[in-house]
Amino acid sequence: MEIDERIDAIGKQPFRQKFHLYGREAATVQLRGREAIRRHAHDLIDKKLAPADPYKDGKQTPYRGHPVFVAQHATATCCRYCLQRNHGIPRGHELTAEEREYVVDVICRWIDRELAG
Ligand SMILES: [Zn+2]
Repeated sequence: MEIDERIDAIGKQPFRQKFHLYGREAATVQLRGREAIRRHAHDLIDKKLAPADPYKDGKQTPYRGHPVFVAQHATATCCRYCLQRNHGIPRGHELTAEEREYVVDVICRWIDRELAG
């Protein structure tokens, strides 16, 4: 499934629909630029999502405070449970480089779509 199709499908879930980029988090993207946000996404995924057994898995992603956090909840890349259920990436292993790249692609694509819309 293509990234846009996946984002569309996940976006139909009532819980995910609530998340949009506006205010402080939208301003952060404009201020820092898309490349910086992509690097932040990589750093956050490496630390909080990629380990085989992430610290406080299911509760590691705040709802606000950074555009990547908002994007993670909107795209179901917030924890390993959501990643397994919505993206078919099983829990219990350290995310590969390809899987990390995929997650960051999904997050950044969602951010681009929000700012375009
Ligand atoms: Zn989650």
